[in-house]
Amino acid sequence: MNEVKTPKRPLLFYYCIVILVLLLFNALIAPYLTSAQVTEVDYGTFMSMTENQEIAEVEITDSEIVFSDQDGNLYETGLMESDTGLVERLYASGASFSSEIVEETSPLLSILLYWVLPIVLFIALGQFMSKKLMDRAGGSNSMMFGMGKSNAKVYVKSSEGIKFTDVAGEDEAKENLAEIVDYLHTPDKYTEIGASMPKGILLVGPPGTGKTMLAKAVAGESNVPFFSMSGSEFVEMFVGMGASKVRDLFKQAKEKAPCIVFIDEIDAIGKKRDGSLGGNDEREQTLNQLLTEMDGFEDNSGVIILAATNRPESLDPALTRPGRFDRRVPVELPDLQGREDILKVHAKKIKLAEDVDFSRIARMASGASGAELANIVNEAALRAVRDGRGFVTQADMEESIEVVIAGYQKKNAILTDQEKHIVAYHEIGHALVAAMQTNSAPVQKITIVPRTSGALGYTMQVEEGNHYLMNKEEIENKICTLTGGRAAEEVAFGSVTTGASNDIEQATKLSRAMITRYGMSEDFDMVAMETVTNQYLGGDTSPACSAETQAEIDRQVVALVKKQHQKAVSILSENRTKLDELAAYLYQKETITGEEFMTILKGQRPALSDLKTNP
Ligand code: ADP
Repeated sequence: MNEVKTPKRPLLFYYCIVILVLLLFNALIAPYLTSAQVTEVDYGTFMSMTENQEIAEVEITDSEIVFSDQDGNLYETGLMESDTGLVERLYASGASFSSEIVEETSPLLSILLYWVLPIVLFIALGQFMSKKLMDRAGGSNSMMFGMGKSNAKVYVKSSEGIKFTDVAGEDEAKENLAEIVDYLHTPDKYTEIGASMPKGILLVGPPGTGKTMLAKAVAGESNVPFFSMSGSEFVEMFVGMGASKVRDLFKQAKEKAPCIVFIDEIDAIGKKRDGSLGGNDEREQTLNQLLTEMDGFEDNSGVIILAATNRPESLDPALTRPGRFDRRVPVELPDLQGREDILKVHAKKIKLAEDVDFSRIARMASGASGAELANIVNEAALRAVRDGRGFVTQADMEESIEVVIAGYQKKNAILTDQEKHIVAYHEIGHALVAAMQTNSAPVQKITIVPRTSGALGYTMQVEEGNHYLMNKEEIENKICTLTGGRAAEEVAFGSVTTGASNDIEQATKLSRAMITRYGMSEDFDMVAMETVTNQYLGGDTSPACSAETQAEIDRQVVALVKKQHQKAVSILSENRTKLDELAAYLYQKETITGEEFMTILKGQRPALSDLKTNP
């Protein structure tokens, strides 16, 4: 799909152009159009030309003398009142007297020439250019200037548009949307049997999962015009302006049917109308207009509305009811296979070394969205360029995952020796606790190289396969692993640092969710104590219980985390020698792989006796 951009220039710009054209026209072109060129000469030249009998015609007016030479060139000079014998001398020189050497242009003609003609030319040029743009946009750009017109981006049919094959993974969503494509290709098949296509389809999912891409792919596959607008673009300062934009958009869409209208971030206009006083009138009017327009067009009119949002729960129920947005297509974070496919799609654009193992990268990037994966591939390519290589290696890819997760390596972070020891113990603590609990995912990599995100080190765990469910023990083990860092500091140094704040936050979140949402506490059984408000945007929760229950929940959360923390401390105390050995190894190497870690843990590698640690 090729986007056709509408020029957006302030009105003042056009006024300036008009004035400039008028001035240029008057200064440069008009004089040639209205009269012949007249050269101004002094009186002496005139007298000598008279004497030399060079003057062919002469006209004397009240203030000047206009004359021509034998070749027809025109001259003018001022009139000298004191020159009394002028007429006789001229007569004697053979000049003939005339009254219309220079033809006077009529006032009407000069107005036409000086003012009307340039404006007409300017308008004609403008018309010509807007027609050109309209042709390129498929004849839809009647909204070039002016307020209240929709400024939807229009994509025209083109063979190089985004196709379903460009969107990796998301098979369910693609299957769902393929039906729309089929309908736009062969509507008769559907109308014959009496089926009508959904008017609206809502794509819901976390940011960067490819919702916009899917919408474009539908248009690309069905080869129809595609109008794209973001919800926030409808909302204007003046009440009623957004509504008129909606009207205009639908008018254009109906003219261009069959076509697809895509409204991104529809929650900007589609939020629930809560009826509170002093509500956002403009937004509500825009929403009302959208509802009316969606009701307004008949079934099978060929206009399909696709909309995307990360916050489906905030949408007005009137918008999501059947007949408007009949269908909801979830576009979730990609699973392992999906991640691998997305990486492969994006890697097609770059030159790769032979060692690149997509399945391993996909496993390392668990939880990443399509946009993040695209970013990872691009970061890897940039890293290859920085290193002066012509291709991307596995190491580039792995490093770029860390860049996307934790930021760039801090080149000049200066950790004191003691701090470096603490960080090494902290990270080994996580890894060791994870490894000692059978249910925890194996460690992929441990590093104590500081990152720009503020992390002083981290332990990367890798999920071996897709995980859709977690049982109670697994969550408990995860909490235990999260407390492992702090536990190692306690075991090794007998004191604690600020380094565990992120772990603490995550452990608390998990244990709270176990109690309030997953029904994993004995006291509350299967009662929800919290509701999730923003499923796709970080999963914020709001309490749904009494203050006393909240206090009890807090007590239970503390007890749960405490228990796991103690478990971590005892695991590490029992394996103190391994902890020291591994921490010393990490301190020296700064980054170690999962295999190295496991070899030392299993005692297959002799301890590095020359390494000294000073806990
Ligand atoms: P959303 O609209 O869901 O926020 P986008 O569709 O704008 O996300 O995706 C942003 C970018 O992420 C795309 O331009 C593309 O490069 C990449 N991307 C996301 N999902 C996929 C996917 N399934 N396949 C390929 N690329 C993807």
